[in-house]
Amino acid sequence: MSYFRAEIDKIEGYTPGFQPKNAGVIKLNTNENPYPPSQKAIEALANLSPEQARKYPDPTGLEFKLAAAKVLETEPENIICCNGGDDLLNLAIRSICDSQRPIAYPVPTYTLYPVLANIQNCPIVEVPFEAVGQIPSALYKTNAALTIICNPNAPTGGFIEPQKISDFAKATKGVVLIDEAYVDFADDNCLKLVSKHDNIIILRSMSKGYSLAGLRFGFGIANPDLIEGLIKVKDSYNVNAATLAAAVEAIKDQKHLKDNVQKIKQQRQRLTDELISMGFSVHKSFTNFVLAVWHKGDAQWIYNSLAERNIFVRYWKTDDLKDKLRITVGTKQQNDKLIEALKDILA
Ligand SMILES: *Cc1c(COP(=O)(O)O)cnc(C)c1O
Repeated sequence: MSYFRAEIDKIEGYTPGFQPKNAGVIKLNTNENPYPPSQKAIEALANLSPEQARKYPDPTGLEFKLAAAKVLETEPENIICCNGGDDLLNLAIRSICDSQRPIAYPVPTYTLYPVLANIQNCPIVEVPFEAVGQIPSALYKTNAALTIICNPNAPTGGFIEPQKISDFAKATKGVVLIDEAYVDFADDNCLKLVSKHDNIIILRSMSKGYSLAGLRFGFGIANPDLIEGLIKVKDSYNVNAATLAAAVEAIKDQKHLKDNVQKIKQQRQRLTDELISMGFSVHKSFTNFVLAVWHKGDAQWIYNSLAERNIFVRYWKTDDLKDKLRITVGTKQQNDKLIEALKDILA
């Protein structure tokens, strides 16, 4: 006999990427930004007052919403602050889905979606991508209460043009959540769709572009009615005072973001070219990682050989991904070491 609900006993839970403890490892497995966050964000943390620690934080994160609305050219009432983008995924699934109200999403994609959906006990419709950068036609026929489109997608790195997502949202009765966790590394985004569609939620994260994965901050942008529904479900104080203070400074420091993104895009191109010259095929990436397909099949031995050299990338054993490695774009020095190790392993 179990103490848990049947749904909980049935599921495995999400497996986060391995966080190695030993010093000197090259960690290219969880898509963290290799560069430090804005110095102003770090100063905000250092300058946190005893009063800020003593009192509850602002439950709405108004200061962040004002700063973000200015940068993104939207309104504060279109924004919800979250404890990481994952918090928003949880809020959306809990407020929109149940056993009669399915979730749908194209696969392969972020493997947290089915975990959250199973906890909520809602039916899951997984629709395989037909081509990178295209919405699979079967996604139009799911009748889901919530459809998630990860764009740019993980782990493929591909990007669907906003116009295609706009057409999809128009044809869909349910809510469309566009997971833009990686959008800072893309050339376009779906923000402009929010004013045209009352059923779109955009997810943004400060973990990737803004180098703040450790602080846990993300936010949603949507029509105010959708935002209100999501707020009903969130923890009152879902974002702590220290994180809020840092997030305000981070979003204001767009120059820091752009400089880091520029460096990562340069290294992404270099890594892509080098991997192709070693016999991998690599889709064009719009993210801070590349998905390298090993032309001779199973890639686990390459993953293992890299791990023996203290270089960690991401590998999944599933049928659709077992011949692939997902590699976070690191600094030039980290990428030098990765490329050198791969040349050695494949020689
Ligand atoms: C990183 C990520 C998120 C959000 O991550 P947080 O660290 O919780 O902000 C959401 N979706 C995808 C696909 C991601 O890779």
